[in-house]
Amino acid sequence: MSTMRSALADFIHLFYPHVCAGCGSDIIDIDRQLCLYCISQLPSTHFFNQPGNPVEKNFYGRLNVVNAASGYFFTKHSLIEAVIYELKYKGNKLIGFEMGERLGHLLANSRFNDIDIIIPLPLNAQRFKKRGYNQAEVLSEGIGSIWNKPVVANAVIRNVNTETQTHKGRISRWENMDGVFAVAEPSIIQDKHVLLVDDVVTTGASLEACGAEILKVSGAKISIATLAYTI
Ligand SMILES: [Zn+2]
Repeated sequence: MSTMRSALADFIHLFYPHVCAGCGSDIIDIDRQLCLYCISQLPSTHFFNQPGNPVEKNFYGRLNVVNAASGYFFTKHSLIEAVIYELKYKGNKLIGFEMGERLGHLLANSRFNDIDIIIPLPLNAQRFKKRGYNQAEVLSEGIGSIWNKPVVANAVIRNVNTETQTHKGRISRWENMDGVFAVAEPSIIQDKHVLLVDDVVTTGASLEACGAEILKVSGAKISIATLAYTI
């Protein structure tokens, strides 16, 4: 940052305090959401360069993934929980883009090297309406900005009125995933290696259902990346 810009940033900061979304510190660049201390505290998984990591194993026998990984461990009352809360419930798209950039760096330096296109897991219509954006798409845009791969948000769609029983247990949720996702633009996916992106992987049921639809397209391959992984 030039001296001039820095002086201007300091001046603006006097009137519009800009604080870290993780810890509240005001020692933070004007255009960032997390301070350097918080970034250093993020619980990295190092899964992107670890074949057979727990995220990948989660899909064994369910979905034929080339690679799968998450950037960070998700635990209760942690910094990563706060980050995802900001992204999903506080309208903080900037923090999502910033975390997407971090994933982009992890991906660009990993074994995930022959991806053709990035597809965010589609959000259901009610949540999209309430939130105003798809957090997986925000993450994907952040990844694409660093990794220089196209983000395609509309090739796969989420059907409406297919998920009425989301409060049921794990087994029921799997059963209810039938017909939830559909490929709208097969020509975009044909013969492509798709990176499917979401914020958190827990059971992986949605990613599995969406990935299965993508794999029905001729020549398609799939890998999965999420910001966080629930232990
Ligand atoms: Zn902080």
